[in-house]
Amino acid sequence: MNITIIGPPGGGKGTYSTRISDKYGIPHIATGDIFRSEVDEQSELGKKIEKYLEKGELVPDEIVNKVVRKRISEPDCKKGFVLDGYPRTFPQAKALEEMAELDLVINLDVSEEVIIERLSNRRICKSCGKIYNLKSLPPEKEGVCDQCGGELYQRPDDEPEVIRNRLKEYKKRTQPIIDFYREKGIVEDIVFKEERPIEDAMKDIHAAIGKIN
Ligand code: ADP
Ligand code: ZN
Repeated sequence: MNITIIGPPGGGKGTYSTRISDKYGIPHIATGDIFRSEVDEQSELGKKIEKYLEKGELVPDEIVNKVVRKRISEPDCKKGFVLDGYPRTFPQAKALEEMAELDLVINLDVSEEVIIERLSNRRICKSCGKIYNLKSLPPEKEGVCDQCGGELYQRPDDEPEVIRNRLKEYKKRTQPIIDFYREKGIVEDIVFKEERPIEDAMKDIHAAIGKIN
């Protein structure tokens, strides 16, 4: 079961891929999460990519491909995986073809209105990574994670100027690869014209996964 979730920033890639990973017992591989933790650790890789994340620009393909190739070759990926935020460019899609064959591409088709609303209200737990929304999924206690008591923070790239840049990159470089997968007949669209409950969208996602099983 090799799945990828593609969608704009704030599209819900993290939310839905985490749930898929839990339900089907396949690893969740999020390039953005990997990169953020490398930056936090100030590793060699982290120092190299920091400037791209800060500006909302894409990390160069060679770097991303190398990271994903290494992760996918680990034994827990044999039964499948759910990729979150990869591939994002045409060269990445080509590189992935050499690593594994995708069974399903979930395309989160989210209106710009919903995106802006979500990103400005998004808060994330520093310890466990759980994603909250101050309006639709608020924590019980302000600033504190329900799940683990960790501190909630706002991603530095969830700032209006940087959001605009991430959206621009998405439209220019990521949207075209959806058509590439569409020709292969493996795309399922999950449409959000307006905000809808997570569980409601999850039903559509389960149905899409059911078709490949
Ligand atoms: P979002 O999709 O909301 O922007 P992510 O967590 O998926 O959030 O990505 C955050 C940042 O990490 C991106 O803006 C980009 O700088 C970098 N990144 C993540 N995945 C990739 C990728 N596949 N290719 C290039 N850069 C990436
Ligand atoms: Zn937590």
